[in-house]
This record gives sequence, C-alpha cells and structure tokens, in this order.
Amino acid sequence: MPPLKTRERLSEVRYEIRGELARRARELEGQGRTLIKLNIGNPGAFGFRAPEHLQRAIADHIHDTDPYTHQQGLPEAREAIAAHHRRRGTPNASPERVFIGNGVSELIDISLRALLNPDDEVLLPSPDYPLWSAATILNDGRPVFYRCNPENGFLPDPDEIESLVSARTRAIVLINPNNPTGAVYPRALLERIVAVAEKHRLLLMVDEIYDGVLYGDAKFEPLAPLAGNLPCLSFSGLSKVHRACGWRVGWAVLSGDPTACGDFHHAMDLLGALRLCANVPGQFAIEAALDGGDTIGPLCASGGRLFEARRAVIESCEASESLRLVAPAGALYAFPGVAGAAAEGFDDHAFALEMLETEDVLIVPGSSFNVPYRNHFRVTLLPEPALLREVFHRIDRVLQRHAGR
Ligand code: PLP
Repeated sequence: MPPLKTRERLSEVRYEIRGELARRARELEGQGRTLIKLNIGNPGAFGFRAPEHLQRAIADHIHDTDPYTHQQGLPEAREAIAAHHRRRGTPNASPERVFIGNGVSELIDISLRALLNPDDEVLLPSPDYPLWSAATILNDGRPVFYRCNPENGFLPDPDEIESLVSARTRAIVLINPNNPTGAVYPRALLERIVAVAEKHRLLLMVDEIYDGVLYGDAKFEPLAPLAGNLPCLSFSGLSKVHRACGWRVGWAVLSGDPTACGDFHHAMDLLGALRLCANVPGQFAIEAALDGGDTIGPLCASGGRLFEARRAVIESCEASESLRLVAPAGALYAFPGVAGAAAEGFDDHAFALEMLETEDVLIVPGSSFNVPYRNHFRVTLLPEPALLREVFHRIDRVLQRHAGR
C-alpha cells in the first residue's frame, strides 16, 4: 500500500515550540540527561498551582459535570465572563455573545474557520504566537504579517498595518500583552488600529490571554471598549493568569453592533455545536476565577516570583556584551536578541540546538515566531529566578565562544 498522504498545506505550518528541538530534548532525557526546558509557558511545570478557590469550585461541582453543556458553555460561567467584560467597559457584553472553548487554542481555530473563505487574508503580528498563523493557513486563509520590531519596542505601526490591507483582508489580529515579546500596547496605538479596522471594515481579533500579567507600571487596555460598535472578538482564559492551562478553559467574547456582526455569531455557534461542548469540569472554575480577586498581581509585583524572574533576565542581558533585550512589560516570556561580534553568522536554530546539546537548555529560536531575522530566541519567565540566572550564564558562555572571546 502506498503511504498515507496528509493535508498538503500542513507543509506550510510550523509550531516549533513543541517541534524538532522538543523531540530531541525528550531523546536526551531518555538517555538520562537533566534539562532545563524553557520552551513552553506552562505554569504548572514550574511549580505554580491554580488558586485553591478555583480547585474547590471544580471539586464542589464534580457531580454536576457528567452531561454536555450548551455548545457556547455553562450559562453561569458565560454570565461571569459577560459581567467581567461589562466591568471593563465592553459594550453590550451578554452571556449570549460568550463562547467557551477548550482553551483559547480551540477558539482561535473555530473563529478563523467561521470567518475565512479560501485566500482571505488575516493581518498578523510578526513575531506572532504561531497558532494564529497555523490556524489561518489550515482554514484556507493567508497570513499577512505586520512588523513589531525591537527598534520600536516591538510595537506595531498602524500605518504599516493599513498599507497591508487588500481587498481580501478580513481581520486584524492583535496579541496584547504579547507573546513572545512581552510588549503591552498603549491606548493611543490601539485607537489608531481600531480606526484602520473601521475604515476597512475588518474584524478585530484580540488575544488577551495574558491580560493580568503586567510588570512595573504597564497598564493593560482591553480592546473591545475602544472598538465600540465595531465587530471585535476578545479572547482570554484560565491558562495563564489563573495558572490552570491543563484544564483547557478559554473564552471569546463578541462585541460590536449585532447587525455589523452579520452571521458570524451563528457560524461560531454552529462550529461550537459540531464539537458539542468544552471540557465541563473546567467551566465550573470560571466564576470563581473572575469573581475571586487578582491572584497573579502579587506574583508580578516587586518581590513576586515572576517579577524577580523578569529582573533576573533583564540583569543577565544587561551584563552580557552579546545580548539586547526589550524588557517585557507583560506576559510570561523574554525575547532577547543577539548583537555584536556574536551575531556574525549567527543562526537561531543552530544556536538553540547547541544550547540543548552542549548546555542542557531548551529555548525556542526566534524565527519560530514568523520573524524574518534570525538572531532572537524566546525563554519563559516561569522558572525560579536563580535558575534563569544560571541559564543566562550558560547562554552567555556559548555566545562568548561565538564571539571568539
Ligand atoms: N494565545 C497565546 C498568545 C498563547 O501564548 C497561548 C498559549 O501559550 C494560547 C493562546 C493558547 O492558550 P490556551 O491554553 O487557552 O489554549
């Protein structure tokens, strides 16, 4: 029998966060090596736990979790999400416009499937969180990247976004706070992007999964209140802010004038119905999470574990002659660039492989996030600060070798 053929467009899809290097890491672990794996923003893998009141909410309702729920999710959970959005100023946030999914991941896929016809274009940030480009491609669309470059603090340029709009453009995707760069977008910038969406009648899709993970004086501005009557889909969930990524709970809230949203609501509902419903136990934690106060804030404030981890990375980069870092203002990652003599002939993939093989450290090459340059890499800020200092000591050792020092 000839070998099975798979979907051709898969050859265009990359998700290297769990790709070749991660496979090699498992092989090395199988040979008894102990690795420091900084490739995934998985709080539970670094000793973080979901807050107890969330765990209790699931335990208290475990006997109610056998049936399927409505495809959009449990009514009480949707009401809690809608109320959370109303408090933020999202216009007309109601439980009917909330879609609960198996993580934001599933909803990214469903929403792009609901939106795109073949060769429709989606404006995506470069760097992006690569699920966005993968899901665009697998739903027959075409990613068109706008640049978020380090020289500009990884912020996008609304004029460039507008210059990329074509007759086929359907949506502008924003990731704020950003993975992988940690950029947090100021209100004035968001307003200019909203104006582009309004002028060209584009759906705004904003991935706000890191909305509470903020350092220093960074201020998060939710997009939906600024978008007002424009169709806007805002994504968030329990994975990061509430440290419960294994529960697979995310949501998307549709806002804007219902007439302008056309059949989009119906399409989301239909696609949700085809997969029946999201994981039910996790849905019981949503109300507790959104009504239970800020539990990530203290971790991100001076003295908190994430704040100190970020400080460790910033100080390590400052001390290195070979590294340049735009300090992350939010989210769970740093995205340093290699500069100076070490940057000559530098290849981020070869470097990541070298770090794994010779230093037992797993990082993600920057080009995995759809950037054209090859001198960046991503690490997560989730490990203990002392471990991050050790990692950067090893990184610097390798870079010094590259620089011939
Ligand atoms: N969006 C961004 C920007 C992410 O970084 C991630 C996970 O790392 C996701 C979405 C997926 O999150 P979830 O666990 O809710 O599927």
